[in-house]
Amino acid sequence: MDLTYGPEQEAFRAEARAWLSANVPREPLPSMDTAEGFEAHRAWERRMFEDRWSVVSWPTEYGGRDAGVLEWLVFEEEYWRAGAPGRVSQNGIFLLAPTLFEFGTDEQKARYLPAMASAEEIWCQGWSEPNAGSDLAGIRSKAVADGSDYLLTGQKTWASRGAFAEWMFGLFRTDPSAERHRGLTYFLIPMDAPGVTVRPIAQLDGETGFAEVFLEDVRVPASQVLGEVNQGWGVAMATAGSERGMNLRSPARYTEAAGRLVDLHGELGEDAHDPALPADVAQAWMDAEVYRLHTMWTVSKVLTGGKVGPEASLNKVWWSEMDVRLHETALRLLGPRAHLLPDAPEAHNGASWLDGYLFSLAGPIYAGTNEIQRNVIAERVLGLPRS
Ligand SMILES: Cc1cc2nc3c(=O)[nH]c(=O)nc-3n(C[C@H](O)[C@H](O)[C@H](O)COP(=O)(O)OP(=O)(O)OC[C@H]3O[C@@H](n4cnc5c(N)ncnc54)[C@H](O)[C@@H]3O)c2cc1C
Repeated sequence: MDLTYGPEQEAFRAEARAWLSANVPREPLPSMDTAEGFEAHRAWERRMFEDRWSVVSWPTEYGGRDAGVLEWLVFEEEYWRAGAPGRVSQNGIFLLAPTLFEFGTDEQKARYLPAMASAEEIWCQGWSEPNAGSDLAGIRSKAVADGSDYLLTGQKTWASRGAFAEWMFGLFRTDPSAERHRGLTYFLIPMDAPGVTVRPIAQLDGETGFAEVFLEDVRVPASQVLGEVNQGWGVAMATAGSERGMNLRSPARYTEAAGRLVDLHGELGEDAHDPALPADVAQAWMDAEVYRLHTMWTVSKVLTGGKVGPEASLNKVWWSEMDVRLHETALRLLGPRAHLLPDAPEAHNGASWLDGYLFSLAGPIYAGTNEIQRNVIAERVLGLPRS
């Protein structure tokens, strides 16, 4: 099997690399979980959009380049290699957009996709509720038909960057008498609609990465239903597939981090006095490479007409647990330096590793916890009986 990219992809790579090296901000942007950082990231996304780099795989009519999945992988490799900012639009461009392409009407695509690509409208995800996280089908927020509109009432929580986003996609119960997974509908909701109250949730570091969203008789027209009424579970599972599969976490993120880990070991390995470290660094690098190869396998399947099904759960368990191990290894290498402030003379970029480590700990929780993914793998991939 030939795993090298062809001349077309390499030409695409050269173009992307040249653009990124001329445009990626020299200094890291402030955290996107602050109001200031959110706007700085929005400005970066807009800059990408102006030169049609924000959504390379989308059709040109929505702001993309019609690039194939291989070019998308190449773009991601170059993006991470260049140390470009995190994607503040990720909930929209990586999760909602593929769902809109699959289930949206032409009017919905024309209305929402260009504004998403240019970051004029940034989306958050309104799925979790105080008593429905893993058990998503247990949501209680409801939508009641009122003429040709719906009135939405309920509470959503843990909406990432919900404090700043313009729009939210969420699941609501439209038929309370139906079985749990039925009777749900997928809505697109403007955060400034009357009846929406957003309450930021401060994290330990003081940043407001999350928000609770309260809805009280929020009027939403039927044109903002994605897919069929009462068929929202199927639509939501398409979004979940994107979140757990390769869209949200392209392999470049991890191969780039593993490369930095190898460099860090080159600098600090001898002083670390931990005989297990060389093997753990090599393992982290191999794990990232395995993920890259597995993604190539998935891509070959997609290119030959296949679909990514419940095996997206395998992907999610792999990338999230690999990320924790990789960062733990970096912290062991850094030793006490891992806790130094970024501008301390011996910091060795420890702050960014510590930041990465803390975020990696959330990986086994968001996008559906890994316990739930293991249930999916057991039942739907391996065909084992329900416990
Ligand atoms: C960084 C981060 C970002 C997030 N962003 C968003 C967002 O933007 N939008 C959004 O809607 N939500 C978001 N979430 C919420 C996330 O989806 C939920 O935290 C997750 O689905 C788990 O739900 P829960 O927190 O209610 O935990 P629970 O469902 O209460 O689970 C608690 C524990 O019990 C285990 N458990 C539960 N049921 C089972 C079972 N049947 N079998 C085995 N174990 C089980 C779980 O694995 C977990 O360990 C985010 C979470 C994090 C950490």
